[in-house]
Amino acid sequence: MTRIQTILLDRDGTLIEERHYLRDPEQVVLVPGVAEPMRRLAALGCRFFLASNQSGIGRGLLTTDDYLAVHARLEALLQSEGITLAGAAFCPHGPADDCSCRKPLTGMWTELSARFGLHPESTVMIGDKAADIAFGRAIGCAETVLVLTGHGRDEAIKLGLDPSVGTVQACPAGPGRPDWLSRDLGAYLDMLVQKKGLVHAHRI
Ligand SMILES: [Mg+2]
Ligand SMILES: [Zn+2]
Repeated sequence: MTRIQTILLDRDGTLIEERHYLRDPEQVVLVPGVAEPMRRLAALGCRFFLASNQSGIGRGLLTTDDYLAVHARLEALLQSEGITLAGAAFCPHGPADDCSCRKPLTGMWTELSARFGLHPESTVMIGDKAADIAFGRAIGCAETVLVLTGHGRDEAIKLGLDPSVGTVQACPAGPGRPDWLSRDLGAYLDMLVQKKGLVHAHRI
């Protein structure tokens, strides 16, 4: 049984293919395998949110307008698959800006949770970096997931984890480690669909 209702996603390397400081909407590509489980989870009452560090803005490599154009393209791509994001937050600051919203700090959660009435005990945080996992843990998320797309492989190795995962694997406990290691976003979401399907079958 799973209580997960809120699916909080990193963007780059998790929901879409990693591009170095992405600013061209034409370069937005969904990670393969996400659409079907996202549709099914939405039908089961889950909502999807983005929390994205965009330090390229603070570094002067892209503008807020570039970010918004990329986001519009992402929303259009998702829409063409029948998927809607419930909300999105981004941090435009660089590491030296001393803000409170750059993951692993939790300012984006403060904003999203207040605006959309989110609760950590029914939330999973999914990302491709240790900072995403630290963010999820700081929030008190029910689960954290490190995907092996984007920077995930290198980050798993840094956390002392074996990145040769078939699909989804529970993670041995350790500092900074996620609850789950997943080949990609779709693999974890497929597992969530199955868990929710079981809950549904039991209720009938
Ligand atoms: Mg990322
Ligand atoms: Zn910030």
